[in-house]
Amino acid sequence: MKALVYRDFNDFKWEEVETPVIGPDEILVRVMACGLCSTDVWKAMYHEAKPGMVLGHEVSGELVETGLNVANLRIGDRVAVFHRAECGACYYCKHGDETLCSEYRRQSIFPGAFAEYIRVTPRLVQKSVVKIPDEMTYEEATMIEPTACCVRAVSKCGISVDDSVLIIGDGPMAMLNAQVSKSAGALVILSGHHDSRVEPALRLGADYAFNSKKISIREKVLELTGGRGADVVIVAVSSTDAVQQSLKLVREGGKICVFGDFRDVPQPSLSLDLKPVVHNGVKILGSWGCSTKDYHAAFNLLKNRKVRVKEMITHRFPLERFTEALNVFLSKDCLKIVLHP
Ligand SMILES: [Zn+2]
Ligand SMILES: [Zn+2]
Repeated sequence: MKALVYRDFNDFKWEEVETPVIGPDEILVRVMACGLCSTDVWKAMYHEAKPGMVLGHEVSGELVETGLNVANLRIGDRVAVFHRAECGACYYCKHGDETLCSEYRRQSIFPGAFAEYIRVTPRLVQKSVVKIPDEMTYEEATMIEPTACCVRAVSKCGISVDDSVLIIGDGPMAMLNAQVSKSAGALVILSGHHDSRVEPALRLGADYAFNSKKISIREKVLELTGGRGADVVIVAVSSTDAVQQSLKLVREGGKICVFGDFRDVPQPSLSLDLKPVVHNGVKILGSWGCSTKDYHAAFNLLKNRKVRVKEMITHRFPLERFTEALNVFLSKDCLKIVLHP
């Protein structure tokens, strides 16, 4: 089969590799679509990936082979696969910190989803595969995993009906956080930097969306929240300034969720005024990744059209033309890019 093999940043080769061989508790999936995620890009850019690796994890495809012991899935099933699975039994899992489970990363998809086929390991077959309905396209199904990361953030923040949520950022994860917050019943305000992205946010469910280069976001947030500030601020950009700024946008007793990936910031440190934390009860937390439970919850949100992802896919490329996709990604003139083998 062919796979997109990483050599160096901007040096990926679409080349022949061995087709994975599955074990009795595993499945083989023919990849139909795979989302390009910022983590794929950062892994390559900051050389966290080793030469020879195949990246890609936001995957959907057709099941083409099942191991002898696999009873819950059949050849021909249209599936989406979450590339992680927690053990469910360790200290961290029992405390709701599934992404810290030592088993979480151990089992995965091989060689990586930027390939024609993937082998799905046993625990994933049990916990991390969903059969997608006919009306859900393979492309839409690639968005289950990023949506799941937002499901986790929204539930960590306890967002519910009547909460006001400010999302800082206008990339795909900001849009998904906006939609998932909306599905939880919140009033959603989005603050971005690009007109071309702020406008779709309104169509996708944000109640208000602004370009903060043009207006004072603080004034707007205070105006929309009875002068209090937002109950929750989700910082969906990797900017320490944005985290700093969010302290002036959150209400007393509110929550700030640091969601952006800070891998592109060499030392993401912050000088933090602790008075709002101590005296005003502002809570600062981070959210990273998702559990299998979040993945299934995200799948239901997409299935029930509570989160709409079709409109978010702005570009498609065959994996062979990955470099072009990467350049579009880096230009930021896009929302979600989906790749096809
Ligand atoms: Zn991802
Ligand atoms: Zn565990």
